[in-house]
Amino acid sequence: MVDHWCKDEGSESCVGCGVRFTIYERRHHCRACGKLFCSSCSKYRSQIPKMKIPQKVRVCKPCLDQLRGEEEDDDDQKKKKKKN
Ligand SMILES: [Zn+2]
Ligand SMILES: [Zn+2]
Repeated sequence: MVDHWCKDEGSESCVGCGVRFTIYERRHHCRACGKLFCSSCSKYRSQIPKMKIPQKVRVCKPCLDQLRGEEEDDDDQKKKKKKN
């Protein structure tokens, strides 16, 4: 049996852009939310303080935004600063 690698546990697709994962479109876990993304949707890198990950790891864009927000607004996170 050599065809298990092309099925790759079913037909999951990127939760960011919906692209189907193939042997060419590799899937990646966002280290923060654990969802599966294609390489372009998970090309971001961030530390994840709340998970005690001090090094920069792969995250998706929504998590990156969230993590950046938490980082910057660490001691006044209830104020919800407007960004962008
Ligand atoms: Zn994607
Ligand atoms: Zn994420």
